Amino acid sequence: MNSYVEKILNEEINKHPEELEFNQALEEVLKTISVIFDNHPEYEEMKILEKLVTPDNIVKFKVDLKRDNGDLETYDGYRVQFNNSVGVYKGGLRFNSHVNESVLKALGFEQTFKNALTGLAMGGAKGGSNFDPKGKSEEEIKRFCESFMQGLANHIGEGKDVPAGDLGVGAREINYLYDAYKKIKNNDEEGFITGKPIEKNGSLVRKEATGYGLVYLLNEIIKIHPISHEIRVIISGSGNVAIYTAEKCKELGMKVVGMSDSKGYIIDENLDLEQIKVIKEQKRGKLSEYSKGIYHEGSIYDAEIKADIAIPCGCQNEIDIKRAQNLVKNGIKIVIEGANMPDENDAIRYYLKNNIVFVPGKAANAGGVSVSFFEMEQNRLKEKWNFEKVDTLLKTTMINIHNQCLEAMKEYKLDSHDYLRAANLASAKIVIDKLIKRQ
Ligand code: NDP
Repeated sequence: MNSYVEKILNEEINKHPEELEFNQALEEVLKTISVIFDNHPEYEEMKILEKLVTPDNIVKFKVDLKRDNGDLETYDGYRVQFNNSVGVYKGGLRFNSHVNESVLKALGFEQTFKNALTGLAMGGAKGGSNFDPKGKSEEEIKRFCESFMQGLANHIGEGKDVPAGDLGVGAREINYLYDAYKKIKNNDEEGFITGKPIEKNGSLVRKEATGYGLVYLLNEIIKIHPISHEIRVIISGSGNVAIYTAEKCKELGMKVVGMSDSKGYIIDENLDLEQIKVIKEQKRGKLSEYSKGIYHEGSIYDAEIKADIAIPCGCQNEIDIKRAQNLVKNGIKIVIEGANMPDENDAIRYYLKNNIVFVPGKAANAGGVSVSFFEMEQNRLKEKWNFEKVDTLLKTTMINIHNQCLEAMKEYKLDSHDYLRAANLASAKIVIDKLIKRQ
């Protein structure tokens, strides 16, 4: 590792040894971009790394919730505005009991690179609370969103910082947050939050964006790493990302042979996606209710299923080294991440050692935030774009992400399977260039 990179990494870890998630994110990214600092020794004097690893602002606030039984609970609210050298702060809000400052710093740092890679003018941010909407009544969730927005409203806004949803913050919560902001600010701003319902100036294609975008990128990768027979795909999860990934895979002639949820998985050579949509999107049910194929409890990654492409869209750290070994044994040639960080580091190393193409979420799931950007643009211009226009812009963005990865592979003589290093290097270069221009 470059000595300047090593020095800053050690200093950071010593500054906040308790921030395990943030330190892990720093280590993972800095190791892969070290070569940039070998080529540019002048960056040390310019203190580029210090700027790259330090969040611009961390806003903390208290969020009170009155429960239906009259009890008062207090939660932590945060907004980490990590870096706005590329554009306005942009990143989701997460409501989950595991949320703390370290988790949000890690996610805000990652988001800075993901957003830069889209080529769109967005900086990185992340926010949320250690409140978990699961098990709370509709009224309690509404009151929580109102109270959260009291703490957040003065720190966000069009052209400044634009949050969106993330885990625990879906369409329902965005709707409540939108109404609360409007009540506090009483202005005609629309682009202060994204993922809004269509009738509240949301964008078409937002629902499909992450899954469709992933497959547009995958389509480019297959041109470089061709598969000469009918392509067989397995997808973990059956939520928003998984369903629209499966839909686009099928549309492009790939065969989706397995999907899963948090309890189990189904194997079906003739997968009925419409039935899965009804179970998951309408009934909010379990995959065990699927009436065809074969259902098993456990992880799809422990199963014996011959397939070419694995698309993890479930949760963080779904795939450890053992599951990675199983995937390779089953004939997988490409692993492309729909979720954020579903593969453990050992699993990624194993793929690359075995010449498996590995594409990190930072590149593969960037379609969601890209369409959020198009939602902001529509709000700014007071326009409503049709499905085809947004879909075309999404496709162009994903092809651009792929081109940037290819350029990084060429410039740094990377292995053509290693989209992790390529994505980190390509995005870090963009952020650093902007940081320098701002100095
Ligand atoms: P959803 O909540 O809609 O779906 C998550 C799915 O994963 C559910 O089907 C859930 O099962 C399943 N799941 C949860 N834990 C596991 C597990 N251990 N093993 C297998 N499946 C599991 O989330 P999204 O689809 O929106 O997001 C999925 C991931 O993608 C998250 O990491 C998110 O941060 C990331 N992401 C999402 C974007 C978006 O636009 N939605 C954008 C970028 C990233 P069950 O149905 O049983 O709950």
